[in-house]
Amino acid sequence: MGDLSERERAKYRRQIMIPGFGEEAQRRLKGASALVTRAGGLGGPVALYLAAAGIGKLVVAHGGTLTPSNLNRQILMTHDWVGKPRADKIRESILRLNPEVDLTVIAEDAHADNAAAWVAQVDLVCDCPPTFEERFVLNEAVVAQRKPMVEAAMNSMEAYLTVIVPGETPCLKCLYPEAPPWWSGRGFPVLGAVSGALGCLAAIEAIKVLTGFGQPLKGQMLVFDTETQDYRKFAVQRRADCPVCGGL
Ligand SMILES: [Zn+2]
Repeated sequence: MGDLSERERAKYRRQIMIPGFGEEAQRRLKGASALVTRAGGLGGPVALYLAAAGIGKLVVAHGGTLTPSNLNRQILMTHDWVGKPRADKIRESILRLNPEVDLTVIAEDAHADNAAAWVAQVDLVCDCPPTFEERFVLNEAVVAQRKPMVEAAMNSMEAYLTVIVPGETPCLKCLYPEAPPWWSGRGFPVLGAVSGALGCLAAIEAIKVLTGFGQPLKGQMLVFDTETQDYRKFAVQRRADCPVCGGL
């Protein structure tokens, strides 16, 4: 864990001022790493705010090329980038905000053959894909490697957020033995401000877990409906017969 330079103390002064955060949490964040997959309407703000806060190392995975319908929410993109690889613009946008982050951008989405190697490079995963196939793949990788994962998902005006710590909290498969009924593959409704709001909350959880500051949403799920601004938090339980984490 490296000490802070004078420039870093100046840059992060306003968050170091937060009671209980201080230089110690800032040093821990500098020594920490996270994988964000993917970096669209949800993961884009997660990656950007982790970089802004001064995380030491960021691995971001997002495949494909930008489409016009991505632009209502993928705020790392620009309108002139349609048809080009999202990964290149993700790199440019993050480094424009914080050129000091050790950034790796991978132009692929997670699947069974790559997820474990990516997870092995980091301290924590922020799970932000639009499909439950990818989410389940990442869940298996973090459980196998006992790494924490911030689990954030949204649909239309609703969102949920929890922190998975394998062996301590439910894993994703405990919470969703099957993909939830609202999820029917690609193309669910998204308002960019909703995915962005959830992304900010997910970044807060990642920072808390990585620094030891505050009380992460371990064993608890925050569910909110931005149409009514109704926010609820409830306890979630492990399943002893979970096929993924039941043996831990
Ligand atoms: Zn489980």
